[in-house]
Amino acid sequence: FDQLPGMIWFDGKLVPGPEAKIHVLTHGLHYASAVFEGERAYGGEIFKCTEHSERLKRSANILDFEIPYSVAEIDAAKRLVIEKNGMKDAYVRPIAWRGSEQLGVSAQGNKIHLAIATWQWPSYFDPEQRLKGIKLDLAEYRRPDPRTAPCLAKAAGLYMICTVSKHRAERRGYADAMMLDWEGRVAECTGANIFFVKDGKIHTPIADCFLDGITRKTVIELAKRRGFEVIERRILPDELTSFSECFITGSAAEVTAVAEIADWKFTPGTITKQLMDDYTAEVQPKSRAA
Ligand code: PMP
Repeated sequence: FDQLPGMIWFDGKLVPGPEAKIHVLTHGLHYASAVFEGERAYGGEIFKCTEHSERLKRSANILDFEIPYSVAEIDAAKRLVIEKNGMKDAYVRPIAWRGSEQLGVSAQGNKIHLAIATWQWPSYFDPEQRLKGIKLDLAEYRRPDPRTAPCLAKAAGLYMICTVSKHRAERRGYADAMMLDWEGRVAECTGANIFFVKDGKIHTPIADCFLDGITRKTVIELAKRRGFEVIERRILPDELTSFSECFITGSAAEVTAVAEIADWKFTPGTITKQLMDDYTAEVQPKSRAA
């Protein structure tokens, strides 16, 4: 990213990517007082743009800070960066953090910054594997108890265990890792939510101690539109043998089929394929579809 072409929106100004720098004594870097978003633009339009801006503001509030821009201003800034960078299909990364005025656990007076970058990220997983099904490892770390961490925020600090789990999975030959929650139930992946299929019905864990993804909610809606029953419930790893299909969802991962989780095997089937197609259709720019 040192050579990231194009502009980054940085505290209200567009600056060339390599010039968007911060002080090394930034609170967000030392104490993870940072929240971010991951979004995609399709054909020049950001999918669920406002929902992502709202979640960014909410995540900041959970970390006890206020982003000094409204949702409408953040929406406009994201659109401006995409337009200035001449991008149609792009990944969009807004990030807000506490600045460098004071460096201790307390940072009451620190300035809150916001930056928005965009780049090309065509596929989060190998495109061929997305259809055939990726392989997931079982992560060593569990999602924290909601009393231990602000788990409903998209907060940088929560990704520490995700990066460690994903690196371990990659070293062991897997594309990603499935994480259990603090009680040992199936939770999600390191950057995506998870779904299973059994007897034509869709099952997914209740999002009460991990991110209730915007893609997760979209896919649940799409599945219901197709007449599928979607059951949100506690899922234990012992049950994994009883599911025929498995897929994961996320703004970056979109809908990706899963073929294997550790020793459990799945066959990407008609429901996964249907929802992959429906999601692809859903993200198309509304102005073009109209
Ligand atoms: N869980 C985690 C840990 C994630 O990082 C993401 C990606 N933001 C998701 C779930 C999916 O969220 P969304 O569909 O809103 O991108």
